[in-house]
Amino acid sequence: MTAYQHHLIDGIWTAAQSAEITRIHDSASGTELGQVAHGTREEIHLAVRAAKNAFASWSTLPVSTRADYVRGIANQLEEQVEQLAQGVAAEVGMPLKLSRRIQVQMPILAWRATADLAVECLADVALGHSTLNHVPVGIVGAITPWNYPLHQITAKVAAALVAGCTVVLKPSELAPCTARALGEAAVAAGLPKGVLNIVMGDATTGQALVDHPDVALLSFTGSTAVGRRIAASAGQALKRVSLELGGKSACLATADAPAESVVRQVVGSCFLNSGQSCNSLTRLLVPIELYDTYRALLADAVTRLTLGDPLDSATRMGPLVSAAHRDRVRAMIVEGESQGLDLIAGGSQAQLPANGYFIAPTIFGRVPPRSTLAQQEVFGPVLSVITYETEQQAIDIANGTAYGLAAAVWAGTTDHALTLARQLRAGQVDVNGAPYNPAAPFGGFGDSGLGREGGKYGIEEFVEIRAIQMPVSSARETA
Ligand code: NAD
Repeated sequence: MTAYQHHLIDGIWTAAQSAEITRIHDSASGTELGQVAHGTREEIHLAVRAAKNAFASWSTLPVSTRADYVRGIANQLEEQVEQLAQGVAAEVGMPLKLSRRIQVQMPILAWRATADLAVECLADVALGHSTLNHVPVGIVGAITPWNYPLHQITAKVAAALVAGCTVVLKPSELAPCTARALGEAAVAAGLPKGVLNIVMGDATTGQALVDHPDVALLSFTGSTAVGRRIAASAGQALKRVSLELGGKSACLATADAPAESVVRQVVGSCFLNSGQSCNSLTRLLVPIELYDTYRALLADAVTRLTLGDPLDSATRMGPLVSAAHRDRVRAMIVEGESQGLDLIAGGSQAQLPANGYFIAPTIFGRVPPRSTLAQQEVFGPVLSVITYETEQQAIDIANGTAYGLAAAVWAGTTDHALTLARQLRAGQVDVNGAPYNPAAPFGGFGDSGLGREGGKYGIEEFVEIRAIQMPVSSARETA
Protein backbone atom coordinates (compact mmCIF):
# COMPACT_ATOMS: atom_id res chain seq x y z
CA MET A 1 0.00 0.00 0.00
CA THR A 2 1.25 3.46 -0.84
CA ALA A 3 0.60 6.56 1.20
CA TYR A 4 0.32 9.75 -0.82
CA GLN A 5 0.54 11.88 2.27
CA HIS A 6 3.14 14.44 1.30
CA HIS A 7 2.79 17.54 -0.82
CA LEU A 8 5.61 19.10 -2.84
CA ILE A 9 5.75 22.67 -1.54
CA ASP A 10 8.67 24.97 -2.25
CA GLY A 11 10.87 22.08 -3.37
CA ILE A 12 10.31 19.96 -0.26
CA TRP A 13 8.01 16.98 0.30
CA THR A 14 5.98 18.16 3.29
CA ALA A 15 3.84 15.88 5.48
CA ALA A 16 0.11 16.48 5.03
CA GLN A 17 -1.61 18.44 7.83
CA SER A 18 -5.00 16.80 7.56
CA ALA A 19 -5.93 13.22 8.43
CA GLU A 20 -8.63 13.25 5.75
CA ILE A 21 -7.89 10.85 2.92
CA THR A 22 -9.31 9.19 -0.18
CA ARG A 23 -8.69 5.44 -0.39
CA ILE A 24 -7.75 4.21 -3.84
CA HIS A 25 -8.24 0.65 -5.00
CA ASP A 26 -6.77 -1.69 -7.58
CA SER A 27 -9.38 -1.48 -10.32
CA ALA A 28 -9.02 -5.18 -11.22
CA SER A 29 -9.17 -6.68 -7.73
CA GLY A 30 -10.73 -4.04 -5.51
CA THR A 31 -7.89 -4.34 -2.97
CA GLU A 32 -6.68 -1.11 -1.42
CA LEU A 33 -3.74 0.44 -3.29
CA GLY A 34 -3.12 3.50 -1.19
CA GLN A 35 -4.39 6.56 0.59
CA VAL A 36 -4.31 10.10 -0.73
CA ALA A 37 -4.22 13.01 1.69
CA HIS A 38 -6.61 15.92 1.22
CA GLY A 39 -4.55 19.09 1.04
CA THR A 40 -5.95 21.89 3.16
CA ARG A 41 -6.63 25.53 2.30
CA GLU A 42 -3.51 26.39 4.32
CA GLU A 43 -1.37 23.96 2.28
CA ILE A 44 -2.73 25.41 -0.94
CA HIS A 45 -1.84 28.85 0.37
CA LEU A 46 1.73 27.75 1.16
CA ALA A 47 2.07 26.22 -2.31
CA VAL A 48 0.76 29.37 -4.02
CA ARG A 49 3.10 31.51 -1.93
CA ALA A 50 6.05 29.35 -2.99
CA ALA A 51 4.97 29.67 -6.64
CA LYS A 52 4.67 33.43 -6.21
CA ASN A 53 8.15 33.71 -4.73
CA ALA A 54 9.63 31.63 -7.53
CA PHE A 55 7.86 33.52 -10.32
CA ALA A 56 10.16 36.55 -10.59
CA SER A 57 13.29 34.54 -11.34
CA TRP A 58 11.67 31.70 -13.32
CA SER A 59 9.74 34.02 -15.61
CA THR A 60 12.86 35.97 -16.53
CA LEU A 61 15.08 32.98 -17.35
CA PRO A 62 15.82 32.56 -21.07
CA VAL A 63 13.20 30.31 -22.68
CA SER A 64 15.94 27.91 -23.75
CA THR A 65 16.98 27.45 -20.10
CA ARG A 66 13.42 26.72 -19.04
CA ALA A 67 13.14 24.26 -21.94
CA ASP A 68 16.30 22.51 -20.72
CA TYR A 69 14.75 22.01 -17.28
CA VAL A 70 11.68 20.54 -18.96
CA ARG A 71 13.89 18.11 -20.91
CA GLY A 72 15.59 17.21 -17.63
CA ILE A 73 12.21 16.28 -16.16
CA ALA A 74 11.48 14.09 -19.21
CA ASN A 75 14.84 12.33 -18.70
CA GLN A 76 13.97 11.59 -15.08
CA LEU A 77 10.51 10.27 -15.95
CA GLU A 78 12.04 8.05 -18.60
CA GLU A 79 13.77 6.04 -15.87
CA GLN A 80 10.44 5.08 -14.35
CA VAL A 81 8.43 4.01 -17.41
CA GLU A 82 7.70 0.46 -16.29
CA GLN A 83 6.81 1.34 -12.73
CA LEU A 84 4.50 4.15 -13.87
CA ALA A 85 2.84 2.00 -16.54
CA GLN A 86 2.02 -0.59 -13.91
CA GLY A 87 0.84 2.07 -11.48
CA VAL A 88 -1.60 3.62 -13.96
CA ALA A 89 -2.77 0.18 -15.12
CA ALA A 90 -3.70 -0.66 -11.53
CA GLU A 91 -5.25 2.73 -10.76
CA VAL A 92 -7.18 3.33 -13.97
CA GLY A 93 -7.55 -0.14 -15.52
CA MET A 94 -5.81 0.26 -18.89
CA PRO A 95 -4.05 -2.93 -20.12
CA LEU A 96 -0.32 -2.73 -19.36
CA LYS A 97 0.96 -2.71 -22.93
CA LEU A 98 -1.28 0.24 -23.81
CA SER A 99 -0.62 1.88 -20.48
CA ARG A 100 3.13 1.80 -21.14
CA ARG A 101 2.78 3.47 -24.53
CA ILE A 102 -0.21 5.77 -24.07
CA GLN A 103 -0.13 6.61 -20.38
CA VAL A 104 3.63 7.01 -19.97
CA GLN A 105 5.77 7.05 -23.11
CA MET A 106 3.55 9.45 -25.06
CA PRO A 107 3.43 12.01 -22.22
CA ILE A 108 7.23 11.83 -21.93
CA LEU A 109 7.45 12.57 -25.66
CA ALA A 110 5.11 15.50 -25.04
CA TRP A 111 7.45 16.92 -22.35
CA ARG A 112 10.24 16.84 -24.93
CA ALA A 113 8.10 18.18 -27.78
CA THR A 114 6.97 21.10 -25.62
CA ALA A 115 10.57 21.94 -24.79
CA ASP A 116 11.52 21.76 -28.48
CA LEU A 117 8.72 24.13 -29.52
CA ALA A 118 9.24 26.70 -26.82
CA VAL A 119 11.93 28.99 -28.22
CA GLU A 120 10.24 29.52 -31.58
CA CYS A 121 6.76 29.74 -30.14
CA LEU A 122 7.68 32.33 -27.51
CA ALA A 123 9.93 34.51 -29.68
CA ASP A 124 9.04 38.18 -30.15
CA VAL A 125 6.96 38.98 -33.21
CA ALA A 126 7.38 42.15 -35.29
CA LEU A 127 4.13 43.83 -36.35
CA GLY A 128 4.67 47.12 -38.14
CA HIS A 129 6.22 49.45 -35.57
CA SER A 130 5.13 47.14 -32.72
CA THR A 131 6.97 44.25 -31.12
CA LEU A 132 4.80 41.56 -29.57
CA ASN A 133 6.14 39.84 -26.45
CA HIS A 134 4.85 36.60 -24.94
CA VAL A 135 4.59 37.38 -21.24
CA PRO A 136 3.96 34.53 -18.78
CA VAL A 137 0.49 34.82 -17.25
CA GLY A 138 1.69 34.27 -13.66
CA ILE A 139 0.81 31.53 -11.21
CA VAL A 140 -1.10 28.67 -12.76
CA GLY A 141 -3.51 26.48 -10.80
CA ALA A 142 -3.69 23.14 -12.63
CA ILE A 143 -6.40 20.62 -11.75
CA THR A 144 -6.40 17.24 -13.49
CA PRO A 145 -8.54 14.07 -13.73
CA TRP A 146 -7.67 10.39 -13.44
CA ASN A 147 -8.21 8.85 -16.85
CA TYR A 148 -4.88 9.79 -18.53
CA PRO A 149 -3.24 11.23 -15.45
CA LEU A 150 0.29 11.94 -16.68
CA HIS A 151 -0.89 13.07 -20.10
CA GLN A 152 -3.28 15.64 -18.64
CA ILE A 153 -0.70 16.89 -16.15
CA THR A 154 1.88 17.19 -18.94
CA ALA A 155 -0.41 19.16 -21.24
CA LYS A 156 -0.70 21.82 -18.54
CA VAL A 157 2.51 21.74 -16.55
CA ALA A 158 5.10 21.36 -19.33
CA ALA A 159 3.48 24.15 -21.35
CA ALA A 160 3.09 26.44 -18.34
CA LEU A 161 6.72 25.93 -17.29
CA VAL A 162 8.27 26.69 -20.67
CA ALA A 163 6.00 29.74 -20.94
CA GLY A 164 7.56 31.06 -17.72
CA CYS A 165 4.68 30.44 -15.32
CA THR A 166 5.03 28.78 -11.96
CA VAL A 167 2.52 26.11 -11.05
CA VAL A 168 0.45 24.61 -8.27
CA LEU A 169 -0.87 21.23 -9.42
CA LYS A 170 -3.81 19.48 -7.76
CA PRO A 171 -3.88 16.02 -9.40
CA SER A 172 -6.77 13.57 -9.26
CA GLU A 173 -7.28 11.86 -5.92
CA LEU A 174 -8.02 8.61 -7.82
CA ALA A 175 -4.77 8.33 -9.80
CA PRO A 176 -1.91 9.95 -7.89
CA CYS A 177 1.11 7.80 -8.78
CA THR A 178 2.27 9.76 -11.83
CA ALA A 179 1.83 13.11 -10.07
CA ARG A 180 4.12 12.03 -7.31
CA ALA A 181 6.64 10.64 -9.79
CA LEU A 182 6.56 13.97 -11.61
CA GLY A 183 7.31 15.82 -8.37
CA GLU A 184 10.24 13.49 -7.72
CA ALA A 185 11.44 13.96 -11.30
CA ALA A 186 11.28 17.74 -10.94
CA VAL A 187 13.33 17.63 -7.73
CA ALA A 188 15.87 15.24 -9.28
CA ALA A 189 16.13 17.44 -12.39
CA GLY A 190 17.06 20.39 -10.16
CA LEU A 191 13.99 22.48 -11.00
CA PRO A 192 14.27 25.61 -8.83
CA LYS A 193 12.20 25.38 -5.67
CA GLY A 194 8.67 26.71 -5.85
CA VAL A 195 8.44 26.51 -9.65
CA LEU A 196 6.29 23.36 -9.48
CA ASN A 197 4.26 22.62 -6.36
CA ILE A 198 1.98 19.61 -6.01
CA VAL A 199 -0.81 19.45 -3.47
CA MET A 200 -2.59 16.09 -3.28
CA GLY A 201 -6.27 16.20 -2.53
CA ASP A 202 -9.90 16.03 -3.50
CA ALA A 203 -12.53 18.49 -4.66
CA THR A 204 -12.14 20.61 -1.52
CA THR A 205 -8.43 21.00 -2.16
CA GLY A 206 -9.18 21.88 -5.78
CA GLN A 207 -11.74 24.44 -4.68
CA ALA A 208 -9.16 26.12 -2.43
CA LEU A 209 -6.85 26.45 -5.42
CA VAL A 210 -9.66 27.87 -7.54
CA ASP A 211 -10.46 30.43 -4.84
CA HIS A 212 -6.88 31.61 -4.24
CA PRO A 213 -6.58 35.26 -5.25
CA ASP A 214 -2.92 34.97 -6.37
CA VAL A 215 -3.64 32.35 -9.03
CA ALA A 216 -3.75 34.09 -12.40
CA LEU A 217 -4.92 31.21 -14.58
CA LEU A 218 -6.89 28.07 -13.82
CA SER A 219 -6.24 25.20 -16.17
CA PHE A 220 -8.77 22.44 -15.57
CA THR A 221 -9.45 19.08 -17.16
CA GLY A 222 -12.43 17.14 -15.91
CA SER A 223 -16.19 17.02 -15.97
CA THR A 224 -18.32 19.71 -17.54
CA ALA A 225 -20.22 20.24 -14.27
CA VAL A 226 -17.06 21.06 -12.31
CA GLY A 227 -15.65 23.06 -15.24
CA ARG A 228 -18.74 25.24 -15.25
CA ARG A 229 -18.31 25.99 -11.53
CA ILE A 230 -14.63 26.80 -11.99
CA ALA A 231 -15.41 29.11 -14.92
CA ALA A 232 -18.03 30.91 -12.81
CA SER A 233 -15.59 31.56 -9.99
CA ALA A 234 -12.81 32.50 -12.39
CA GLY A 235 -15.25 34.93 -14.01
CA GLN A 236 -15.96 36.64 -10.71
CA ALA A 237 -12.24 37.06 -10.00
CA LEU A 238 -11.39 37.81 -13.64
CA LYS A 239 -8.86 35.00 -13.78
CA ARG A 240 -7.90 33.39 -17.06
CA VAL A 241 -9.39 29.94 -17.40
CA SER A 242 -8.86 27.02 -19.73
CA LEU A 243 -11.18 24.04 -19.61
CA GLU A 244 -10.86 20.59 -21.17
CA LEU A 245 -14.20 18.94 -20.46
CA GLY A 246 -16.41 16.10 -21.60
CA GLY A 247 -17.47 14.85 -25.01
CA LYS A 248 -20.02 12.82 -26.94
CA SER A 249 -18.06 12.43 -30.12
CA ALA A 250 -19.57 11.13 -33.34
CA CYS A 251 -18.19 8.94 -36.10
CA LEU A 252 -20.11 9.61 -39.28
CA ALA A 253 -19.96 6.87 -41.92
CA THR A 254 -21.40 7.55 -45.37
CA ALA A 255 -23.05 4.90 -47.53
CA ASP A 256 -19.83 4.28 -49.51
CA ALA A 257 -17.54 4.17 -46.45
CA PRO A 258 -15.48 1.00 -45.91
CA ALA A 259 -17.58 -0.51 -43.12
CA GLU A 260 -14.89 -2.86 -41.74
CA SER A 261 -12.45 0.05 -41.33
CA VAL A 262 -15.13 2.22 -39.73
CA VAL A 263 -15.91 -0.49 -37.21
CA ARG A 264 -12.23 -1.05 -36.46
CA GLN A 265 -11.71 2.64 -35.68
CA VAL A 266 -14.89 3.07 -33.66
CA VAL A 267 -14.38 -0.04 -31.56
CA GLY A 268 -10.74 0.92 -31.00
CA SER A 269 -11.70 4.42 -29.93
CA CYS A 270 -14.87 3.81 -27.95
CA PHE A 271 -13.48 0.96 -25.84
CA LEU A 272 -9.93 2.28 -25.37
CA ASN A 273 -9.23 2.67 -21.66
CA SER A 274 -12.62 0.99 -21.02
CA GLY A 275 -14.37 3.99 -22.57
CA GLN A 276 -12.79 6.36 -20.08
CA SER A 277 -11.51 8.83 -22.67
CA CYS A 278 -13.01 12.27 -23.19
CA ASN A 279 -12.55 12.04 -26.97
CA SER A 280 -13.95 8.51 -27.40
CA LEU A 281 -16.08 8.05 -30.48
CA THR A 282 -19.23 7.03 -28.60
CA ARG A 283 -21.82 7.62 -31.33
CA LEU A 284 -21.65 5.80 -34.64
CA LEU A 285 -23.88 7.34 -37.32
CA VAL A 286 -24.69 4.94 -40.16
CA PRO A 287 -27.08 5.04 -43.15
CA ILE A 288 -30.36 3.38 -42.17
CA GLU A 289 -30.14 0.86 -45.00
CA LEU A 290 -26.74 -0.36 -43.71
CA TYR A 291 -27.82 -0.84 -40.09
CA ASP A 292 -27.82 -4.66 -40.28
CA THR A 293 -24.36 -4.73 -41.90
CA TYR A 294 -22.89 -2.54 -39.16
CA ARG A 295 -24.77 -4.45 -36.47
CA ALA A 296 -23.15 -7.73 -37.54
CA LEU A 297 -19.66 -6.25 -37.86
CA LEU A 298 -19.84 -4.57 -34.45
CA ALA A 299 -21.17 -7.69 -32.71
CA ASP A 300 -18.25 -9.64 -34.15
CA ALA A 301 -15.56 -7.03 -33.39
CA VAL A 302 -16.52 -6.74 -29.76
CA THR A 303 -15.97 -10.46 -29.12
CA ARG A 304 -12.22 -9.79 -29.42
CA LEU A 305 -12.21 -7.38 -26.46
CA THR A 306 -11.20 -9.93 -23.84
CA LEU A 307 -11.94 -8.53 -20.38
CA GLY A 308 -9.45 -9.13 -17.62
CA ASP A 309 -6.68 -7.95 -15.36
CA PRO A 310 -4.73 -5.09 -17.01
CA LEU A 311 -1.48 -6.83 -16.05
CA ASP A 312 -2.45 -10.00 -17.96
CA SER A 313 -1.07 -9.89 -21.52
CA ALA A 314 -4.24 -11.57 -22.90
CA THR A 315 -6.42 -8.70 -21.68
CA ARG A 316 -7.77 -6.33 -24.31
CA MET A 317 -10.05 -4.31 -22.04
CA GLY A 318 -9.63 -3.70 -18.34
CA PRO A 319 -11.94 -2.54 -15.57
CA LEU A 320 -13.16 0.97 -14.75
CA VAL A 321 -11.44 3.24 -12.27
CA SER A 322 -13.63 2.75 -9.21
CA ALA A 323 -16.70 1.01 -7.84
CA ALA A 324 -18.63 4.30 -7.80
CA HIS A 325 -17.81 5.00 -11.45
CA ARG A 326 -18.70 1.41 -12.47
CA ASP A 327 -22.07 1.77 -10.74
CA ARG A 328 -22.76 5.06 -12.52
CA VAL A 329 -21.96 3.55 -15.92
CA ARG A 330 -24.01 0.44 -15.17
CA ALA A 331 -27.02 2.61 -14.22
CA MET A 332 -26.85 4.31 -17.64
CA ILE A 333 -26.76 0.90 -19.33
CA VAL A 334 -29.77 -0.28 -17.32
CA GLU A 335 -31.62 2.88 -18.35
CA GLY A 336 -30.82 2.12 -22.02
CA GLU A 337 -32.06 -1.45 -21.59
CA SER A 338 -35.28 -0.24 -19.97
CA GLN A 339 -36.01 1.80 -23.11
CA GLY A 340 -36.07 -1.34 -25.23
CA LEU A 341 -33.13 -0.33 -27.42
CA ASP A 342 -31.51 -2.99 -29.62
CA LEU A 343 -28.74 -4.40 -27.38
CA ILE A 344 -26.05 -5.49 -29.85
CA ALA A 345 -23.44 -6.52 -27.27
CA GLY A 346 -22.73 -6.50 -23.56
CA GLY A 347 -25.32 -5.01 -21.25
CA SER A 348 -25.91 -5.13 -17.52
CA GLN A 349 -26.34 -8.92 -17.45
CA ALA A 350 -23.15 -9.84 -19.33
CA GLN A 351 -20.63 -12.23 -17.79
CA LEU A 352 -17.82 -10.40 -15.96
CA PRO A 353 -14.61 -11.30 -14.11
CA ALA A 354 -15.33 -12.11 -10.45
CA ASN A 355 -13.57 -9.13 -8.84
CA GLY A 356 -12.81 -5.56 -9.82
CA TYR A 357 -14.84 -2.83 -11.45
CA PHE A 358 -15.71 -4.36 -14.80
CA ILE A 359 -18.37 -3.45 -17.32
CA ALA A 360 -18.75 -5.46 -20.52
CA PRO A 361 -18.22 -3.57 -23.78
CA THR A 362 -21.78 -2.58 -24.58
CA ILE A 363 -23.36 -1.52 -27.86
CA PHE A 364 -26.88 -0.21 -28.27
CA GLY A 365 -28.44 0.04 -31.74
CA ARG A 366 -31.08 2.34 -33.25
CA VAL A 367 -30.53 4.82 -30.42
CA PRO A 368 -32.77 7.90 -30.83
CA PRO A 369 -30.47 10.93 -31.34
CA ARG A 370 -32.19 12.96 -28.61
CA SER A 371 -32.16 10.17 -25.98
CA THR A 372 -30.03 10.34 -22.83
CA LEU A 373 -27.63 7.70 -24.15
CA ALA A 374 -27.04 9.67 -27.33
CA GLN A 375 -26.71 13.02 -25.58
CA GLN A 376 -24.91 12.44 -22.27
CA GLU A 377 -21.33 11.38 -21.71
CA VAL A 378 -21.22 7.86 -20.22
CA PHE A 379 -17.44 7.76 -19.74
CA GLY A 380 -17.53 3.99 -19.90
CA PRO A 381 -17.51 1.28 -22.59
CA VAL A 382 -20.83 2.10 -24.24
CA LEU A 383 -21.37 2.77 -27.95
CA SER A 384 -24.62 4.13 -29.40
CA VAL A 385 -25.39 3.35 -33.04
CA ILE A 386 -27.66 5.94 -34.62
CA THR A 387 -29.22 5.68 -38.08
CA TYR A 388 -29.75 8.50 -40.55
CA GLU A 389 -31.42 8.93 -43.94
CA THR A 390 -29.54 11.85 -45.52
CA GLU A 391 -26.05 13.23 -45.05
CA GLN A 392 -27.48 16.57 -43.96
CA GLN A 393 -29.40 14.73 -41.26
CA ALA A 394 -26.18 12.96 -40.23
CA ILE A 395 -24.36 16.30 -39.89
CA ASP A 396 -27.22 17.67 -37.81
CA ILE A 397 -27.16 14.63 -35.52
CA ALA A 398 -23.36 14.77 -35.19
CA ASN A 399 -23.58 18.46 -34.22
CA GLY A 400 -26.73 17.93 -32.16
CA THR A 401 -25.28 17.59 -28.65
CA ALA A 402 -24.05 20.21 -26.22
CA TYR A 403 -20.48 18.94 -26.73
CA GLY A 404 -17.93 19.36 -29.52
CA LEU A 405 -14.65 17.70 -28.59
CA ALA A 406 -13.83 15.20 -31.33
CA ALA A 407 -15.36 13.51 -34.36
CA ALA A 408 -14.50 11.21 -37.24
CA VAL A 409 -15.77 10.98 -40.79
CA TRP A 410 -15.53 8.08 -43.19
CA ALA A 411 -16.49 8.25 -46.86
CA GLY A 412 -15.59 6.54 -50.13
CA THR A 413 -13.21 9.37 -51.04
CA THR A 414 -11.06 11.67 -48.93
CA ASP A 415 -12.58 14.72 -50.63
CA HIS A 416 -16.10 13.69 -49.72
CA ALA A 417 -15.09 12.97 -46.11
CA LEU A 418 -13.27 16.32 -45.92
CA THR A 419 -16.36 18.19 -47.14
CA LEU A 420 -18.34 16.62 -44.30
CA ALA A 421 -15.51 17.16 -41.76
CA ARG A 422 -15.60 20.89 -42.46
CA GLN A 423 -19.23 20.96 -41.33
CA LEU A 424 -18.59 19.35 -37.94
CA ARG A 425 -18.39 21.56 -34.87
CA ALA A 426 -15.66 19.72 -32.94
CA GLY A 427 -12.11 20.55 -31.91
CA GLN A 428 -10.56 17.57 -33.71
CA VAL A 429 -12.00 15.71 -36.70
CA ASP A 430 -10.31 12.61 -38.16
CA VAL A 431 -10.85 11.92 -41.84
CA ASN A 432 -10.93 8.33 -43.11
CA GLY A 433 -9.02 6.84 -40.17
CA ALA A 434 -6.28 9.47 -39.96
CA PRO A 435 -3.96 8.83 -36.99
CA TYR A 436 -3.67 10.89 -33.80
CA ASN A 437 -1.41 13.94 -34.10
CA PRO A 438 0.00 14.97 -30.71
CA ALA A 439 1.12 18.36 -32.10
CA ALA A 440 -2.42 19.30 -33.17
CA PRO A 441 -4.39 21.51 -30.78
CA PHE A 442 -6.82 19.60 -28.57
CA GLY A 443 -9.93 21.13 -27.04
CA GLY A 444 -13.58 21.59 -27.57
CA PHE A 445 -16.53 23.62 -28.74
CA GLY A 446 -19.53 24.27 -26.48
CA ASP A 447 -19.73 22.17 -23.31
CA SER A 448 -16.43 20.48 -24.19
CA GLY A 449 -14.54 23.50 -22.91
CA LEU A 450 -12.53 26.62 -23.56
CA GLY A 451 -9.04 26.91 -24.99
CA ARG A 452 -6.65 24.39 -26.50
CA GLU A 453 -3.88 22.13 -25.25
CA GLY A 454 -0.99 20.53 -27.10
CA GLY A 455 1.81 21.88 -29.26
CA LYS A 456 2.19 25.59 -29.95
CA TYR A 457 -1.44 26.43 -29.11
CA GLY A 458 -1.07 24.76 -25.72
CA ILE A 459 1.92 26.94 -24.84
CA GLU A 460 0.11 30.08 -25.98
CA GLU A 461 -2.62 29.46 -23.39
CA PHE A 462 -0.11 30.44 -20.70
CA VAL A 463 1.00 33.83 -22.02
CA GLU A 464 -0.35 37.32 -22.25
CA ILE A 465 0.57 39.31 -25.33
CA ARG A 466 2.29 42.63 -24.73
CA ALA A 467 2.55 44.98 -27.72
CA ILE A 468 5.39 47.50 -27.49
CA GLN A 469 5.17 50.37 -29.97
CA MET A 470 8.49 51.81 -31.08
CA PRO A 471 8.78 55.42 -32.20
CA VAL A 472 8.49 55.65 -35.98
CA SER A 473 11.69 56.75 -37.72
CA SER A 474 12.37 60.47 -37.95
CA ALA A 475 12.26 60.14 -41.74
CA ARG A 476 8.69 58.88 -41.62
CA GLU A 477 7.79 61.37 -38.91
CA THR A 478 8.79 64.25 -41.12
CA ALA A 479 7.37 62.77 -44.35
P1 NAD B 1 -14.01 15.67 -12.10
O1 NAD B 1 -14.53 16.90 -12.70
O2 NAD B 1 -14.84 14.98 -11.09
O3 NAD B 1 -12.61 15.92 -11.39
C1 NAD B 1 -11.50 16.45 -12.09
C2 NAD B 1 -10.57 17.09 -11.08
O4 NAD B 1 -11.22 18.20 -10.48
C3 NAD B 1 -10.13 16.19 -9.94
O5 NAD B 1 -8.79 16.49 -9.62
C4 NAD B 1 -11.04 16.62 -8.79
O6 NAD B 1 -10.50 16.40 -7.52
C5 NAD B 1 -11.17 18.10 -9.06
N1 NAD B 1 -12.40 18.72 -8.57
C6 NAD B 1 -13.62 18.15 -8.40
N2 NAD B 1 -14.50 19.09 -7.96
C7 NAD B 1 -13.82 20.26 -7.85
C8 NAD B 1 -14.17 21.58 -7.48
N3 NAD B 1 -15.41 21.89 -7.10
N4 NAD B 1 -13.23 22.55 -7.51
C9 NAD B 1 -11.98 22.26 -7.92
N5 NAD B 1 -11.58 21.02 -8.27
C10 NAD B 1 -12.49 20.03 -8.25
O7 NAD B 1 -13.67 14.70 -13.33
P2 NAD B 1 -13.07 13.24 -13.29
O8 NAD B 1 -14.14 12.30 -12.84
O9 NAD B 1 -11.76 13.21 -12.60
O10 NAD B 1 -12.76 13.00 -14.86
C11 NAD B 1 -13.74 12.61 -15.75
C12 NAD B 1 -14.24 13.77 -16.58
O11 NAD B 1 -13.15 14.47 -17.16
C13 NAD B 1 -15.08 13.34 -17.76
O12 NAD B 1 -16.23 14.15 -17.85
C14 NAD B 1 -14.20 13.56 -18.96
O13 NAD B 1 -14.85 13.79 -20.16
C15 NAD B 1 -13.40 14.71 -18.53
N6 NAD B 1 -12.13 14.74 -19.26
C16 NAD B 1 -11.92 15.67 -20.24
C17 NAD B 1 -10.74 15.69 -20.97
C18 NAD B 1 -10.48 16.70 -22.05
O14 NAD B 1 -9.32 16.90 -22.38
N7 NAD B 1 -11.47 17.33 -22.63
C19 NAD B 1 -9.77 14.75 -20.69
C20 NAD B 1 -10.02 13.81 -19.72
C21 NAD B 1 -11.20 13.82 -18.99
